[in-house]
Amino acid sequence: MLQRFTAVMLVGLLVSGTCVWLTAAEKAAPKAGEKAPKAPAPKVTEEPDEGIQGLYFSQAAAPAKAEAKVVGQGGGAYKVILTPAGGTAVELTGKSEGGKVALTGTGGESGTIADKKLSVSVGDKKYELAYTTVKPPNLGEKPPAGAIVLLALEEGKKPSLDAWDPPSWTVLDDGSMQVSKGDIRTKQEFGDIKLHLEFRLPYEPAGRGQGRGNSGVYLMDRYEIQILDSFGLEPKNNDCAAVYTQVAPKVNACLPPGAWQTYDITFHAPRFDADGKKTKDAVVTVVQNGVTVQDQTVIKGPTGSAKSKPEVKKAPFHLQDHQHKVQYRNIWLVELKD
Ligand code: MG
Repeated sequence: MLQRFTAVMLVGLLVSGTCVWLTAAEKAAPKAGEKAPKAPAPKVTEEPDEGIQGLYFSQAAAPAKAEAKVVGQGGGAYKVILTPAGGTAVELTGKSEGGKVALTGTGGESGTIADKKLSVSVGDKKYELAYTTVKPPNLGEKPPAGAIVLLALEEGKKPSLDAWDPPSWTVLDDGSMQVSKGDIRTKQEFGDIKLHLEFRLPYEPAGRGQGRGNSGVYLMDRYEIQILDSFGLEPKNNDCAAVYTQVAPKVNACLPPGAWQTYDITFHAPRFDADGKKTKDAVVTVVQNGVTVQDQTVIKGPTGSAKSKPEVKKAPFHLQDHQHKVQYRNIWLVELKD
């Protein structure tokens, strides 16, 4: 499954017409000592997931192999990005009626989605795919000996927020916490770390760009690894797993909203000489859902609303409240020695 999942992600460099923009809060760079401005409430709201959006794969016996991403567009509209094995991606759109979607493409392609099956005709080729739930390979990974546990995962039990300041997020019975009432910051400061965390995005299909499941991991309070619903998009430098506005992820490894996803982040803090002058930029590797999407990426300086903060050797990290009901669970880290 991992190989197949990686393969679908590697062929996932698909062009989307969806536009992206910065919110006022993400454009603003507060002066040193000022508090980051509060993000405005998002205009979009969650919609019930009809069970149509997500990943679809050809079954083993299918004569024509393909993979597809079905992306919700709001109000029952869907975009389908179908990638035939070894071929070029095609895009179809349609709207659900009674749980069924009739699809058309601009090149004369046609198809349907019904009962968790996707059928598409492209020229004389017919593709039959089935809805498939994909789990990241290390979802639920237990912290190793010596790890610092920041949000213990015990399914069926509300987690403790003792490691966080303020402990203001909503704790849920499934062992997760949900964005609420501002950013949440670790009480402890860290330098070099290997961090594991799991996140789940709300289904906000009418949202576009930064207005769709937005949160983020602000390493050292300064460097945001973006969290966003970027399922089915060509990766840009403000999409999910980007070093925000600096470096886009190598591939789109996103799962659909509603699925638990993993980040495994290896981070090295910047280095300074005896006079406090920076001698080496921070460096980050991000593995999303088992796929390396940032590989020893140099972070040139603080991102977004942290841009004016001076860089330091150690700091807490925080998780961003961008007014979307993003959930987190199973957060732990190992401090690295060098
Ligand atoms: Mg963000």
